[in-house]
Amino acid sequence: MAEDSEKVPRTKKCPYCAEDIMEDAKKCKHCHETIDVVLKAAEEAKDVNQHVPTVYLNAGSVVGEIKSSVTASQPLAEISEAGTYWLPIPSLVIGIITALALLDDSATDTDTLIGLFTFVAAGLTLGIISISRQNKGKGMAIAGIVLNAVSLVCWVGTLTK
Ligand SMILES: [Zn+2]
Repeated sequence: MAEDSEKVPRTKKCPYCAEDIMEDAKKCKHCHETIDVVLKAAEEAKDVNQHVPTVYLNAGSVVGEIKSSVTASQPLAEISEAGTYWLPIPSLVIGIITALALLDDSATDTDTLIGLFTFVAAGLTLGIISISRQNKGKGMAIAGIVLNAVSLVCWVGTLTK
């Protein structure tokens, strides 16, 4: 008897049409509804994806144009306006200080030279970051880079003396 019950196909009722279907059925053979939860979710997701472009198209090309122009111009506006003087000014100041210090003959001991090199490296880095990331204070950043580069040359000159 136990064997018999095992052989009998296990069925359940379709939640959509109440007909008996196989328990493992992913789709109902009577109403063709998707029973499997995962499969159903996948089909619904596919359905949504297919409808989204249609909705966008129906919204009109004007909306699409506004949207694309806003997203295209936003990064440019951010770069030119959201700049900070905290990059070019320190770069310029460091450039001036190190250039003056290195042109002065007293700055010849190793400790001072190492300290100055750190300053020059920082000044150069700040100037380069400033130029690559923003338009604000570009002149100062260029002057800073030039001064720091000059300082670097002086630094190398002092070192090899
Ligand atoms: Zn059904």
